[in-house]
Amino acid sequence: ALSVRNLVKQYANADRRVLDDVSFDVPKGRVLVVVGPSGSGKSTLLRTIAGLEPIQGGQIALNGTVIETGKPGSEKAGRSARSSELRTHIGMVFQSYDLFPNKTVLGNIMMAPLLVQKRDKAEVEREALELLGKVGLADRKDAWPHELSGGQRQRIAICRALILHPEVLLFDEITAALDPEMVREVLDVVIGLARSGQTMVIVTHEMRFARAIADEIILLEDGHIVEHSTDPERFFIEPETERAQQFLRTFE
Ligand code: ATP
Ligand code: MG
Repeated sequence: ALSVRNLVKQYANADRRVLDDVSFDVPKGRVLVVVGPSGSGKSTLLRTIAGLEPIQGGQIALNGTVIETGKPGSEKAGRSARSSELRTHIGMVFQSYDLFPNKTVLGNIMMAPLLVQKRDKAEVEREALELLGKVGLADRKDAWPHELSGGQRQRIAICRALILHPEVLLFDEITAALDPEMVREVLDVVIGLARSGQTMVIVTHEMRFARAIADEIILLEDGHIVEHSTDPERFFIEPETERAQQFLRTFE
């Protein structure tokens, strides 16, 4: 389970908090979807959970162990102080495919388990091929990133995160940069992960997808949680807050 408590995030040289007193829990095997207008702090929230940004207040815990504690005045630190071992417990996939251009598909997927986790090469390769099969790309194992479509690259990026066996997987608008015909193949992989019990936090502006996959949903605005619903169906049909009604109307 992931637990975020009273999280505060402020960037260096900024006069206001980008996240202010954000708290929620994601129980093991559940899917939390985060929606909100542009600039509301969604990406920042995922980046702090992933340990890519220091936090200035609050705590982040994984299975009861605190992995991040806010330190006032830490704005300028490039990254959080989290150990590289703890980092592997939370995986993240970004909007832009950030595959290494000079490594093949297999090379991309195998890099972190070999270098960071020091796992056995034959075993890592076996698992990489198994993951590629699951996302329908077994035949592209020796391809280079530039030879792949955007949807294929995102599926490789998902494999690269999965091979580290993360407790929690974070997705930041992973279909936003894709041509419409490639969105489905990526979302289908994410739906498969949800069925398999992978704990996830998903930022998306695809409201139909959000509705289909969410166990819980949060609407973020100006760094605050405006509405947190444990009944996503209800959230999309009759949200409790006026602000959520307004937000959802922009998608009609
Ligand atoms: P979008 O839907 O457009 O992706 P978002 O909800 O993901 O938006 P964030 O990217 O988290 O929003 O940005 C939240 C706020 O923090 C914005 O006001 C943004 O300008 C600011 N911000 C983001 N990254 C930085 C940074 N590295 N330094 C300073 N300010 C930042
Ligand atoms: Mg964003």
